[in-house]
Amino acid sequence: MKKNKESLLTGAGPNTRLAHMGNDPSSYHGFVNPPVVHASTVLFPDAATMEKRAQKYTYGTRATPTTEALCDAFNELEGAAGTILVPSGLAAITVPFLAYLSAGDHALIVDSVYTPCRNFCDTMLKRLGVAIDYYDPEIGAGIEALIKPNTRLIHTEAPGSNTFEIQDIRAIADVAHRHGCVVAMDNTWATPLYFRPLDFGVDVSIHATTKYPSGHSDIIMGSVSANAKYWPKLEEARIALGICGAPDDSYLILRGLRTMGVRLEHHQKSALDIARWLETRDDVARVLHPALPSFPGHEIWKRDFKGASGIFSFVLKADADNARAKAHAFLDALSFFGLGYSWGGYESLALHVNLSDRTIRKAPPEGPVIRLQIGLEDAADLRKDLEVGFAAAAEI
Ligand SMILES: *Cc1c(COP(=O)(O)O)cnc(C)c1O
Repeated sequence: MKKNKESLLTGAGPNTRLAHMGNDPSSYHGFVNPPVVHASTVLFPDAATMEKRAQKYTYGTRATPTTEALCDAFNELEGAAGTILVPSGLAAITVPFLAYLSAGDHALIVDSVYTPCRNFCDTMLKRLGVAIDYYDPEIGAGIEALIKPNTRLIHTEAPGSNTFEIQDIRAIADVAHRHGCVVAMDNTWATPLYFRPLDFGVDVSIHATTKYPSGHSDIIMGSVSANAKYWPKLEEARIALGICGAPDDSYLILRGLRTMGVRLEHHQKSALDIARWLETRDDVARVLHPALPSFPGHEIWKRDFKGASGIFSFVLKADADNARAKAHAFLDALSFFGLGYSWGGYESLALHVNLSDRTIRKAPPEGPVIRLQIGLEDAADLRKDLEVGFAAAAEI
């Protein structure tokens, strides 16, 4: 693309933006993709320039043409003032806590949060003198009752991990801002294509780029994007902590973003197809998918989100005494679905969800929760695979 790139991208469709953001071929001899720059040292032409750091790149940890291209892409996707790259999705959650919280502060964390976030809060954050309370994901504006004079940060995640509760993000952000709190959101499930947190009042948007931006189960990385008000503190934390994005991984995430829109459409379609089919089965108690009208948070999802990605759960009917055996029989009978953590890759995955860490949103009583990541395989093959799983579970 030649001139006026920014004005061309404004108003363009999501796939057009994914195809043209975050690179500038004219600055690399016309090559379409940015170079993968491996760098620590950057040379300065003279002592005066060095003293003032008066050039675009100064050191490998600060920025390279590769990491900058990826950060530009995220700024464009998120509508953010700035983005930092971190070594994992979990680091994308913990670094904002370190950036915005101090000893004596209080933070509110959604109870359906990604489990390792809870571990960080209950161990390191507590040790650093930060008090934590967990809140119900469906609390909405009612969160005001939990805000204390020292509450500084509200962490949201929607849909919630494993059980997919939807949060009223705008209602929470409005209350939070009245009390001077920063609002962070883990937006890994929706990606900025299906939900733009900053448009709903969120200050800091978090991604495990390990998932859909990577898309191929071969990279661990995270990103944090902030609005203008909260960007300086985030950048300061990144510099103080010495965190930077690795060159090859940054390149591959940028490459993954080019196809993320078309991949997500396929994930969405197959996942909904399978979710609707699961809902008709007698051996399924409930399907936990925000795009199903039967799901409690569906109306808010429909109001706020532009789409659904490819991961959801269902509750397999079982008695308390055979729940685990049924779940294991189901999982062990699957072939295309691998048993593994993470998601967002091209291949389908399944696991038996562990909800024992929850303090408010406890495990459903009707049976074990099975999480499915629907990959890019053909949905008919995946349904056949799941049929085999149900047959095995019925034997228990
Ligand atoms: C996977 C995941 C993370 C962590 O990402 P990693 O790169 O695996 O550390 C964070 N948040 C959510 C919602 C996730 O699903």
